Amino acid sequence: MLPSISEELEKFRAGLERRNPGESEFHQAVMEVAGSIIPFIQDKPVYTKHRILERMTEPDRIIIFRVCWEDDQGRVRVNRGYRIQQNNAIGPYKGGLRFHPTVNLSVLKFLAFEQVFKNSLTGLPMGGGKGGSDFNPKDKSDHEVMRFCQSFMTELYHHIGPDTDVPAGDIGVGQREIGYMFGQHKRMTNEFTGVLTGKGLEYGGSLIRTEATGYGAVYFIEDMLAEQGEQIDGRRVAISGAGNVAQYAAEKAIQLGGKVVTLSDSSGFVYCPDGMEQEQLDWVVDLKNNRRGRIKEAADEFGWEFHEGQRPWSVPVDLALPCATQNELDAEDAKLLVKNGCIAVSEGANMPTTQAGIDYFQATRTLYAPSKAANAGGVAVSGLEMSQNIAKMSWEEAHLDERLRKIMQRIHDHCKEYGSNNNGHIDYLKGANIAGFTKVANAMLAYGVI
Ligand code: NDP
Repeated sequence: MLPSISEELEKFRAGLERRNPGESEFHQAVMEVAGSIIPFIQDKPVYTKHRILERMTEPDRIIIFRVCWEDDQGRVRVNRGYRIQQNNAIGPYKGGLRFHPTVNLSVLKFLAFEQVFKNSLTGLPMGGGKGGSDFNPKDKSDHEVMRFCQSFMTELYHHIGPDTDVPAGDIGVGQREIGYMFGQHKRMTNEFTGVLTGKGLEYGGSLIRTEATGYGAVYFIEDMLAEQGEQIDGRRVAISGAGNVAQYAAEKAIQLGGKVVTLSDSSGFVYCPDGMEQEQLDWVVDLKNNRRGRIKEAADEFGWEFHEGQRPWSVPVDLALPCATQNELDAEDAKLLVKNGCIAVSEGANMPTTQAGIDYFQATRTLYAPSKAANAGGVAVSGLEMSQNIAKMSWEEAHLDERLRKIMQRIHDHCKEYGSNNNGHIDYLKGANIAGFTKVANAMLAYGVI
């Protein structure tokens, strides 16, 4: 008798945990995918015989290195740098760099694993990777950030290249950090190549890249709503975070007639019951990007409520876009959102909802777009930045936004194709996992056992 799906899943979990002890974020990301893929491949022995899922969980390689730099007082500081090259079956490794004190191997492995599926979903030829450091750029001067970035790149440059591995930004890595790292790479190799994406427009960056992740997450929710005959116009929207993804999710939601009632940072959230104006959002963007201030200052400026130490999921909204960090929305938050009338969730951040939170959304048939589909717009425009760099051209904003819009719609439609259930409900998580898996798996099969 064949083992049941739950027995298969438990066996798979035991192997995963034995090979990767203590890496809870990585276990969570892999088991969320396995929950869709193991049932899907049960009657497709070619994938099980070639151990494709197991092979996908094992990174092609992991590079770990010391990063030494000097602070403004001349003291020597030591951080740890990482690059996870997860899978390059369908293109060069591609994925961001995160600089945050919480960075460790488990976090980067979960992000690299997710990236493989996300990049596959974009339809562009990109493999998956991720990297970063436990360095905290927040409390450092510009010069300290520059010295750190130069030291980080002095080691990383051995392992990356426009046809090998093309990093980008993530939490704590914006255009400033990309500029310092790109400059150091150019200096060391004496080559001007598209080795990083998210660059400034003056040196090979692409229009719409900064906006792409946030815009894409809103385009995805627009498509999910359209499928149900609904729209964003007039809907109340909760957004967490106030960084790159949150800023442009808020901008696009406002453009489409949504009322953005919350933003947050790690100190708490602001609540603006009538929805914020674009000019108020511009003020927040300047606060966060240029003055590097705290979100509470926006509440003080505009008379909004500030809820210290809390996340924004307790206020009544129709739509929720978690855009800050992993595991920021748990089962209790999911229950509150649904109880207060939330009908759709689109994940701008990576893995922001815990497994119990996802289970609740699915049980209540809340429209739920997982990060690997909903936030794929960022890496998709990074892929377009790579194409422009190779062609030594710059495409126009309207063209890029149109390409982004179409890519998000295509991802939505792929998720629908693989995730439609007999009862009419679309399981976007299952759809994203299976659509992302199939392309990479078939490429791996073509290469034989390597
Ligand atoms: P930023 O560094 O620009 O902003 C991060 C935001 O999240 C800040 O408001 C930050 O608050 C908040 N935040 C970070 N950590 C925590 C925490 N532990 N608890 C509460 N709030 C926190 O990063 P991005 O906007 O680029 O990234 C946000 C998410 O989107 C991440 O999950 C990232 O992986 C994902 N993502 C980003 C892409 C991109 O193109 N940038 C592409 C795809 C996914 P504070 O300032 O107080 O730390």
